Amino acid sequence: MQPWNFPLWQALTRDRARMPHALLLQGPKGVGKRDFASALAQWLLCEAPEETGACGRCKSCGWFEQGAHPDFRRLQPTSESGSEDDSGKKTGKLIGIGEIRELGDFIGLVSHQGGWRVVVIQPAEAMNQAAGNALLKTLEEPPAGVLLILVAHQPRRLLATVRSRCRKLAFALPARDQARTWLQEQGLAQAAAALDEVGGAPLLAVDCSEPERLQRRQRFLTALVDTNAVSLSKLAQEFQQRLDESWGWLSRWLFDLLAIQAAVAPRYFPEHTAVLERLARRARPVALWRLQQELLAAGRWLKHPLNGQLLLESWLISYLEAMEIGHGR
Ligand SMILES: [Zn+2]
Repeated sequence: MQPWNFPLWQALTRDRARMPHALLLQGPKGVGKRDFASALAQWLLCEAPEETGACGRCKSCGWFEQGAHPDFRRLQPTSESGSEDDSGKKTGKLIGIGEIRELGDFIGLVSHQGGWRVVVIQPAEAMNQAAGNALLKTLEEPPAGVLLILVAHQPRRLLATVRSRCRKLAFALPARDQARTWLQEQGLAQAAAALDEVGGAPLLAVDCSEPERLQRRQRFLTALVDTNAVSLSKLAQEFQQRLDESWGWLSRWLFDLLAIQAAVAPRYFPEHTAVLERLARRARPVALWRLQQELLAAGRWLKHPLNGQLLLESWLISYLEAMEIGHGR
């Protein structure tokens, strides 16, 4: 568990006898909700729990760490389950009703070790509606000694009735200094820049600091600075399989350009302030803003683009036009 979540931990674990039956861990991505859920599950199952967490030495902890504890289940979306939503549209990976029913069987059992049984559902918003309704039954009559931990970045996508039956634990971005110190302790060289790029979420900063990704980012941003049609077309070809990533960089780049045009400091790429300022001077604000709206609207369809290369290329052409029309001013 990360240090910035420790106050939440203390408040929750102070009185073990008053542990609720259902928890909703909600908050932005990349702040440690999953690790917190795992730490809590292991602590409840541990034979010699300590104030700050599980002992890490007992038989139960051994099972847990091997992913084989008989009183623990983790539900995550699989590719087979619910590849279509109610209206038959293709959606991302979901948690379906079959999995929630199996969970009901598990919950109905007597605890193997005579203690708690713990279930983590992550991300809980991956439950389709039928699954959510099935879970509701369990939440309405919670068996003794069972803790359901729902982890959600977008809790509003859960059924309101599910939300209302959980005790909510609100996670937030840590203070910048604390996040930076922690990242440096994890051996991250460019902690501050990585934090800026991901908007302050430390675990996302770790993900995005993988060396190959940093090189890709460098190539992508270099092409955005060059702004010539050939290099942008090459870029679309190279990144067509990485639409998520390029969408993210382009959106944040536009955000920073618009920020500078509004006389605000860039948020995501402050290390490129000089070049952003140069580009912001020549770019047409309306065209940038329109492209940003287009990217925002595209965001939710990114998982199933009809033609990634074409989509990315059309964004980059719009970007180029926003730059060229104002050229020379
Ligand atoms: Zn233990």
